[in-house]
Amino acid sequence: MKKYSHAWIAFMAIKRLEAIATSVTLGANDVTRSEAKALVTWFKNYRDFVIKGAWYPDEVFKDMSTSHIVKYSPLPGGTDSTFLKLPTSHTIYKMMQKSPLYNEPYKLERDSGNCVDRCEALAHSIVDNFKMLHYEEKGCPIATTGNHLAMRFFILSHYVADCHMPLHCDVRPFSDGKNIHGAIEKKWEDHVTASYSIDKDNNRFFYDPDGYPLHLDPTPFVLDVENDLSTRKYYHGWGGVNKNVWDYMRGVSQYSYLFARYLIPDNFTKNQNWQEFTEQTEWGRDFEKYSKMIFCDAIDSIARIWLRVWIKYRDWLK
Ligand SMILES: [Zn+2]
Repeated sequence: MKKYSHAWIAFMAIKRLEAIATSVTLGANDVTRSEAKALVTWFKNYRDFVIKGAWYPDEVFKDMSTSHIVKYSPLPGGTDSTFLKLPTSHTIYKMMQKSPLYNEPYKLERDSGNCVDRCEALAHSIVDNFKMLHYEEKGCPIATTGNHLAMRFFILSHYVADCHMPLHCDVRPFSDGKNIHGAIEKKWEDHVTASYSIDKDNNRFFYDPDGYPLHLDPTPFVLDVENDLSTRKYYHGWGGVNKNVWDYMRGVSQYSYLFARYLIPDNFTKNQNWQEFTEQTEWGRDFEKYSKMIFCDAIDSIARIWLRVWIKYRDWLK
């Protein structure tokens, strides 16, 4: 995903938290709703850093070849065929129960990417740094700052979003040749930059009266995503027996892999172009429908992970 797509996803995760906090019909209990409200209030102090933070991994860390991916491939006859459960609101998880590769063996080599580990490590570091900020005296040189913590939240959102991009979890080389991977992400970026008013000089969005990215000429795709985040049921649990960010993101990566294989048939190669993509693949034939599932699941995941990280720290305070 590209710069403004990442920033938009992160911002929409804040908006999702606000919906969780204010809309009883989404299903969060009173404690979760009040913590979501507190987190949104905290985030509003740091909204100017969303674009910078969510783009830091690509612009500065440059760990794309290792930490933005988890690459699976089918392995007939292999022994590893465990697929984790996810919350039932995760649309790709629900849909991929019928994938022919579901519960079939897959290969995941040691050097096939550590995006899942990265998410777990970042989540821990945010909780740790909140504790240090609270424990040390104001101005202590070893303590962090709210600005820095907000940056870490936005950085974390980047890795979570990448794991929802099906091609980040599929070993086939779609960034080579005609680079369908890049073409897909360009389409997404075009939606975001056409839909919102962006203050490029200052690397931030212009805001509407509620403090969210100001609409310019929103596309139906963008409006669909925004509608989903204010109406989708919220499940605070990780799903199944998952206990932490690592388990959850591992599950996410598995269904991203299945989705890539479902959306793009085995005989579609890296040397085929966008036109062929729109004619010969399920994804290309209904591009916005499937892209919406990816974005909405990603935004919901980021909101869930952020909120659980926040509550973990707040519970420690008690
Ligand atoms: Zn990335």
